[in-house]
Amino acid sequence: MKMKNEALDAKPMVRQPAQDIPLYASIDVLVAGGGPAGIGAALAAARCGASVLLVEQRGYLGGMATVSQVPAFCPYTDQMKPIIRGIGLEILEDMKRSMADEFQRDWQGRYDWVPIDAEVLKRLLDEKMAKAGVNVLYHTFLGNVLHEQGHVEAAIIHNKSGTQAVKAAIYVDATSDADIVWHAGGPLVKGGDEGELQPGTMCFVLHNLSRSTFLAHADQTGSDLRHSIREGIAAGELKVAREWAGISWLNEHTAGFNFGHVFGIDGSNADDLSRGATEGRVLVHHIVQWLRRSVPGFANAYLGTTGEQIGIRETRRIVGDYVITADDFLGCRSFPDDIARNAYFIDIHMAKPTSGMTMVHLPPGQSHGIPYRALLPVGLDNVIVAGRAISTDRATQGSTRVMPNCFAMGEAAGTAAALLTKQKRSSTRSLDVETLQRQLVHKGAWLGEEINERLRTQRSI
Ligand SMILES: Cc1cc2nc3c(=O)[nH]c(=O)nc-3n(C[C@H](O)[C@H](O)[C@H](O)COP(=O)(O)OP(=O)(O)OC[C@H]3O[C@@H](n4cnc5c(N)ncnc54)[C@H](O)[C@@H]3O)c2cc1C
Repeated sequence: MKMKNEALDAKPMVRQPAQDIPLYASIDVLVAGGGPAGIGAALAAARCGASVLLVEQRGYLGGMATVSQVPAFCPYTDQMKPIIRGIGLEILEDMKRSMADEFQRDWQGRYDWVPIDAEVLKRLLDEKMAKAGVNVLYHTFLGNVLHEQGHVEAAIIHNKSGTQAVKAAIYVDATSDADIVWHAGGPLVKGGDEGELQPGTMCFVLHNLSRSTFLAHADQTGSDLRHSIREGIAAGELKVAREWAGISWLNEHTAGFNFGHVFGIDGSNADDLSRGATEGRVLVHHIVQWLRRSVPGFANAYLGTTGEQIGIRETRRIVGDYVITADDFLGCRSFPDDIARNAYFIDIHMAKPTSGMTMVHLPPGQSHGIPYRALLPVGLDNVIVAGRAISTDRATQGSTRVMPNCFAMGEAAGTAAALLTKQKRSSTRSLDVETLQRQLVHKGAWLGEEINERLRTQRSI
């Protein structure tokens, strides 16, 4: 099941001479990737006492929320109560507290679809990392790993200082493309049976809007944005495949947009990412022109920013000790080794302009468990994967992939890594999972009524 990169293997080769590489750091836990999963992992591991290095290719944290301007956090609740708690909820509430009074009033006590202010988030995350003692190395790409017999010995990083190595006891792969597992030759799958992948979206932020005009028009006419989009498509004035746009208002004049798709982009392929960037910007320009002409309140829209990278919903998934399936999702299954729970709906965007969306919701109050085993790539003993690339089938990835879940998985991965290093164990499978669960519950995570009730009264270590 190992994923070969046939396109690369078919190319002419040059030989790189053997090279001694400076050792940049020797630490307990290396976290690769500073998105929601990496943030959760780095903070949790450092707060549990581990020495942590987080490497991130951009100059800020946040992952899709900041890199690609994804404009809102998906629900933290199961429609009845918050089920994503711990570090994820702490970040949500701290972000709200850092916003203007009006935003705080609007979103107080609300946990679902909270708009994201990317600049507030970046600053807040820097502060949290510094306070927790996480060593963050920006502008640094993890480009390879040295591994032997299923054990990662070192990560190879590239940045302005050159090529260096990092040695860690545990490696948390939060790259969302499972880069560490890929370099270590671990088993991976990508997309659907025919290689289909969800499309990318170039999200963007518009200023100089009038929310009150926009909402008043919708109130008076009963015609919302979806209606305008439908009309625009029918009139041949708007060239998008789906009659839908996500708008997240940051204030009366500024909103983030998740609007339009770019098809056929594999986010683990650099050529595709480059095409996604240029095609995405062309599409955003087209959409903004249309919004100015067609939507009341948007006549003076000013394009503030597009994502640094096109937003990517799906690439590689690891094959882990357990593969979470759609049956597990639909059956709201719990596992003895649950480290988080998920209630977000299966939300698979169409792979082609002509195919449809797949959406499957759970009833209010229902969720399924995410077992620790789904974070452990088969054949690798000191790597934990958190975030978009965990071990699921394709349908379930369409659900587990969202940011609140990634925070929770990251927190579990980081806590597990810290416990392992504290116990001087390097095999992720030697961890006593109940100890991990107890630690998570004590730090505020919700692992379901049964586990939380059982472990709440027991002492953490
Ligand atoms: C268009 C779009 C809309 C979405 N809408 C929502 C929404 O409304 N709400 C929601 O909650 N979720 C939404 N999602 C899903 C969600 O944003 C992602 O699935 C989630 O951010 C994944 O988190 P992650 O931590 O696994 O990875 P990411 O957020 O992708 O972060 C990975 C980080 O790792 C870094 N990285 C990657 N490889 C390397 C490497 N080799 N070396 C160093 N750094 C590396 C990247 O730069 C990035 O910062 C959306 C996604 C897209 C694309």
